[in-house]
Amino acid sequence: MHIGIPAEINAGETRVAATPETVKKYTAKGFHTVLVQSGAGAGASIPDAAYQEAGAVIVNDVSQLYGQSQIILKVRGPGADEVALMRKDAILIGLLSPHQVEGIEVLAQHGLTAFAMEKLPRISRAQSMDVLSSQANIGGYKAVIIAANVYQKFFPMLMTAAGTVKAARVLILGAGVAGLQAIATAKRLGAVVEAFDVRPAVKEQVESLGAKFVEVPLTDEEKAKAETAGGYATEMSDDYKRRQGELIHQRAVAADIIITTALIPGRPAPVLIKEETVQAMKPGSVIVDMAVEAGGNCPLSELNKTVVKHGVHLIGIANLPGLVAADASALYARNLMNFLNLMLDAKSGELKINQEDEIIAGTLVCSEGQVVKKA
Ligand code: NAD
Repeated sequence: MHIGIPAEINAGETRVAATPETVKKYTAKGFHTVLVQSGAGAGASIPDAAYQEAGAVIVNDVSQLYGQSQIILKVRGPGADEVALMRKDAILIGLLSPHQVEGIEVLAQHGLTAFAMEKLPRISRAQSMDVLSSQANIGGYKAVIIAANVYQKFFPMLMTAAGTVKAARVLILGAGVAGLQAIATAKRLGAVVEAFDVRPAVKEQVESLGAKFVEVPLTDEEKAKAETAGGYATEMSDDYKRRQGELIHQRAVAADIIITTALIPGRPAPVLIKEETVQAMKPGSVIVDMAVEAGGNCPLSELNKTVVKHGVHLIGIANLPGLVAADASALYARNLMNFLNLMLDAKSGELKINQEDEIIAGTLVCSEGQVVKKA
């Protein structure tokens, strides 16, 4: 098999879908040839020579790469120009934005077999392939580091000869993978941390990291509804949202830094920090809106911009993992390799797509010219 690694063309995308480590493993048994577009690793500080040393063939002409690759590994979904260069029988694996139906239709019309890694089932067997987790983990870390950089005060409490400096108060909204890493990072920097999530199940995880869990009391009906069988949050009732809004406003006004990570798959992000809350926050406070690409948890944050409104710094960087490009690529590339290994026979290197496998069926978004409809 020829496995193609094109350079990412999305603005600001620094990550790459294979590293010398994964190239070495793909090519170890001699079954596969890995074609890497020249410069594909530049954003993650991986020179062509490192890929070459690991056994890859460097290709200058992207149309040649797409023309030869039976399997294409990408970070972001391809644009129409890239799709046009792909073989009709190619397998495409990446973050394909499966909720954007038109994009998937373009892939289907071309005849591709495509797998959207966002649709990976959250089951134990899939953990090593879970790109959302590996990237959210990095994003949560970087969100805190960027907030600390913009914040004009210390994170830890300091007792100095010139007097005492108070510890920063950090509020994390959404305690999934990103939120938990943000809690851990802010704690390591010495901040006092509080966190909130609609899923009561995360209380224990938040507390085990040394943060306080901000709790909106739930009715029995709300408790049963708060989390899907897959562990994701669901849309809550209007009455819950009102009670939640009042409590978050109160905690936000007391905070110096807010990191928001709240997402509901396939839906716009919930608004958690309204303009009146930003207005009431202390001047110099910082909000990092990690949900900005899904519409934002704060309506004042702007995509890929840092703005100051009502004296509060609002950071809306969509691709935080891309700012930690080397490690983000290393983990992403391993996730993709573990996923691809599900379909590559270990003895013969042949491709076998077993659609009975829940991981393969869950991620498959199009095949044989058709968009795969999910229940
Ligand atoms: P996510 O990125 O979809 O959402 C981030 C967080 O926002 C979630 O914790 C969610 O509950 C929270 N949220 C949504 N609406 C909110 C609101 N209105 N107010 C406050 N918080 C809100 O979530 P994720 O990080 O991808 O994790 C989703 C679930 O999957 C978690 O239960 C996680 O532990 C689980 N998970 C399981 C596995 C596995 O078993 N393989 C791997 C990774 C994650």
